[in-house]
Amino acid sequence: MSRFMSERFADLEVYTPGEQPRDMKYIKLNTNESPYPPSPEVVEALSKNEIELLNLYPDPTCKELTAKIAGLYGLKPENVFISNGSDETLSFAFMAFCDEDRKMAFPSISYGFYPVYGELYGIDCLQIPLKDDFTIDYKDYLNLNRNIVIANPNAPTGLTLSLPQIEEILTTNPDYVVIIDEAYVDFGAESCAGLVEKYPNLLVVMTYSKSRSMAGARLGFALAQKEIIDDLNKIKFSTNPYNINRLTLVAGAAAVDSDAYYKECCKKVVAAREYTQEKLHALGFETLDSKSNFIFARHPEIDGEKFYLMLKSKGILVRHFSREEIKDYLRITVGTKEQMDSLLDAAAQIIREEAK
Ligand SMILES: *Cc1c(COP(=O)(O)O)cnc(C)c1O
Repeated sequence: MSRFMSERFADLEVYTPGEQPRDMKYIKLNTNESPYPPSPEVVEALSKNEIELLNLYPDPTCKELTAKIAGLYGLKPENVFISNGSDETLSFAFMAFCDEDRKMAFPSISYGFYPVYGELYGIDCLQIPLKDDFTIDYKDYLNLNRNIVIANPNAPTGLTLSLPQIEEILTTNPDYVVIIDEAYVDFGAESCAGLVEKYPNLLVVMTYSKSRSMAGARLGFALAQKEIIDDLNKIKFSTNPYNINRLTLVAGAAAVDSDAYYKECCKKVVAAREYTQEKLHALGFETLDSKSNFIFARHPEIDGEKFYLMLKSKGILVRHFSREEIKDYLRITVGTKEQMDSLLDAAAQIIREEAK
């Protein structure tokens, strides 16, 4: 830290993104990206014509994309906020809705960015432990009198809450914002998008990074009643009004038009997930019942970190977290069936070697 940086960031622990090593070509199953390219319509939309307009600022209101997303979810444009990745919505929400009196709560094992925002903005965050089976006990979130953020499905477990459970959290915390982070919802969980009109304190956060094959374009969005969307826009127009670049805006709009393509991709990922889980079980792995595009798995005989390193040496990247409660586990992104076969072959080989 330079002597110029504010002391208040001295102890800030930053978010650690999944590694992107360049020393060899890896099968990348460590950051939950889609294995499929964007739709042909998206590629087409990124035209020479649009590139030649890069001298001009993009539309700060994201009008066209906002209207399209509203249409997709049966809502009004006033219910949609567009952000530079969903991380930006989360950041803005912590900034907008939290302070000394309005504190935050989230599961102690969840998306690693939540505690980082909490620290960055100096917010008191109550981190609520999961149950022993890694599920979230929704009863822990009733009458909390704090803002709440829950990933549904949760990361890195892939486990879900039901809509009635989330509704009970919403109704028992009426004076606080309940953020449901639906980064993985398209792979098998129930979305809260349909609850937006019913609950003024609900903020649903979604991303193009996982199910819409656009992690590299940085696009996210959020759905809520107008007042909450207006608040997020207040923060956006006080920090970075042109938060979405021109190319991402047109790509995002084209992706809405090719919704059927993405649904098909999700179906393939779900099929590959079920296939891989079954094969992993045959190899002696235990897995949680994932409704996302990753599998959280442990092998009772092989140390998690060791397994991760051995897979890496064989050219397969998965994610390993060193924190105590989950250090036996690997989080394996679901890729194509071919990629999963490579993973399964490598895992089988490692297990054979280790058993010797
Ligand atoms: C990937 C992810 C995000 C953020 O994704 P963006 O690329 O910033 O849209 C948010 N929440 C969870 C739980 C995620 O896994």
